[in-house]
Amino acid sequence: MMKPLEQLVRKNIWSLAPYSSARDEYSGKEAHVFLDANENPYNAPYNRYPDPLQRDVKKLLERIKGVPAENIFLGNGSDEAIDLPYRIFCEPGRDNVVSIVPTYGMYQVCADINDIECRQVLLGDNFQLHADAVLQACDEHTKIIWLCSPNNPTGNSLDRDEMMKVVEGFDGIVIVDEAYIDFAQQLSLRQELPTHPNLIILQTMSKAWGSAAIRLGMAFASKEIIAIYNKVKYPYNVNLLTQQQAMEMLKDPFEVDKTVKIILQERNRLMQAFRELPLCEQIYPTDANFFLARVTDAKRIYDYLVDKGIIVRNRSRIQLCQNCLRITIGTRTENNELLSALRQY
Ligand SMILES: *Cc1c(COP(=O)(O)O)cnc(C)c1O
Repeated sequence: MMKPLEQLVRKNIWSLAPYSSARDEYSGKEAHVFLDANENPYNAPYNRYPDPLQRDVKKLLERIKGVPAENIFLGNGSDEAIDLPYRIFCEPGRDNVVSIVPTYGMYQVCADINDIECRQVLLGDNFQLHADAVLQACDEHTKIIWLCSPNNPTGNSLDRDEMMKVVEGFDGIVIVDEAYIDFAQQLSLRQELPTHPNLIILQTMSKAWGSAAIRLGMAFASKEIIAIYNKVKYPYNVNLLTQQQAMEMLKDPFEVDKTVKIILQERNRLMQAFRELPLCEQIYPTDANFFLARVTDAKRIYDYLVDKGIIVRNRSRIQLCQNCLRITIGTRTENNELLSALRQY
C-alpha cells in the first residue's frame, strides 16, 4: 500500500505556491489583444510565450497512448522527468532511492546532483529483475524505486510480474522508464496506472519517434502526481518549436510504425551476422533498438572501429558488462559498414 502522497512529498513542495504566469491566468483563445505578458508585439509567432501545459500536444498523445491529458506531464526530454521526482519526493541528505544495476546512468547522476543516496541492486541471471531483492534494499527513507524496461544497456525487458510485484510491494513511488517500449514485444505498463497510484511511467520522443533533437519526454501518472510535477517544473519548460514539431510527428504515428519495423528487421539481421563473427562471445536478447554483445576484447575492438569512423558504445566498465559493447541499430548501409569492418578485424 502506498503511503499518503502528502507523506511522500517534501514539505516545502507540498506547500509550494507555484509561479503563476500570464498564460496560466488567462489561457482562453477568444481575446485578441494580449497586453498581459510583456511580450513584444512584433516577430510572430515567436514573440508569444508557449502554452505552459502543452495542451495541443497532450490532446494528440491522449489518443495515441490512451491516457487522459491530466495524467500526462511533458518535459525537456526524459531528463527533466527523471530529475523532478528527486526534487519532489527526496529530502537531500536524508532520503534514498533504489535502482537496478546495470541500468541507465541518469538515475544515479540526478541522485548525486540532488544529494540523495542511490542504492544499487544487481540484476540476476539474464539481467532479470528479482522483486524481493529490490524490496529488501528499501528502508523507511526510500522514496523511489527506479526500473527500466526494456533496460539500457542490457536491452531486455524486465519480467512484467516481477515489476508489478515491486509496484504492489512498495509503499513509495515506482518509476518505470519505458524509453524503448515502442520497439518491444512486451506491452507498456500504462494500463496499470488507474489501479496503481504509486506508479510513474516515463516515455520519450527520442527513440522510436526519431526526435531526440527536439527534447520531449513524457511522464504518465496519477493526476495528483502530475499536478505536483506541473507545479515544480519551469513554467515554459517545453518551447514552441518543440511543441510544433512534436505535433507534426504525432499526427502520423503510422509513419513511425514503419520505421520501427524496419529497425527491428535490421536488428535481427545484424545480430545474426554478428553472432557468426569470431570476436563475438555472446549476444544478449534484446527488446530495444540496440543490443549488448560480449566480445573477445571490447577496448581493442572499440578503438579499431573508432579508427574506421564507426562509433559504438563500450560498456566494459559497468558492473556485469565486462567486455561488452552496446550497438545501436543503424540503417542497412551503416550496419553493413559495421559488419564488413568487423569481418576484417
Ligand atoms: C535514451 C533514453 C532516454 C531518453 O532520454 P531523453 O532525455 O528523453 O532523450 C530515457 N531513458 C533511457 C533508459 C534511455 O536509454
